[in-house]
Amino acid sequence: MKLILALDFGGTKLATGLTNNGSKEWLNYKRCLSPTNADVNTDLSIMYELIDSVLEGQKPDVIGVSFGGPVDANTGTVRLSHHVKGWENIPLKKLLEDKFGVSANIDNDANVAALGEYSFGAGRGYNSLFYITVSTGVGGGWILNGQPWRGFEGMAGEIGHAIIDPDGPLCLCGKRGCVERLASGPYMAQDVREILRKETKKGEILRSLVENNLDLITGKVISEAANSGIS
Ligand SMILES: [Zn+2]
Repeated sequence: MKLILALDFGGTKLATGLTNNGSKEWLNYKRCLSPTNADVNTDLSIMYELIDSVLEGQKPDVIGVSFGGPVDANTGTVRLSHHVKGWENIPLKKLLEDKFGVSANIDNDANVAALGEYSFGAGRGYNSLFYITVSTGVGGGWILNGQPWRGFEGMAGEIGHAIIDPDGPLCLCGKRGCVERLASGPYMAQDVREILRKETKKGEILRSLVENNLDLITGKVISEAANSGIS
């Protein structure tokens, strides 16, 4: 049985899990928030601590990495993170292989999630699918004819900074009206807070979910409000 160490570098969260090849259960799993002023070095040192605590002295047979940003999956190099400083051209595959002495594979988180849904989830039985992730950012991943389709420089499905409203609000990438500016968790929360501060009679459900403390509104709270009715 192969022991797989799985790592997830998100924009605001870091997670690691240990599982046996073919199993759908974690043997061990730990996650934590990355600090607001995180950079590549703090992300890596937090991740190494998480890895030590899930491995408990065991040695993995292989490492799989999901990264929240554009990745060159062939070389295992992170191109950049829009959310955490210092990730430009970091050879993450090599860093992990040198440190742990086993093979590591790295891909963009939406591509990995698309593969997960294709293999174990909503995409089972289908030949091709497009997966959309909405979290700190907005990303997408293709499975075409049973294979991940990464496109030129791994950018296939990277819909986050496609412009859908040229006159829309300014995005962290410098453009206006990107999908991510309008639909990511943190930006939706920011927009909703601004609207509710101006329009004090709107948002009954949202206000009750956060007990009138608008600072507590997050993308998750907005989803809960949407699920429970129009607010
Ligand atoms: Zn953008």
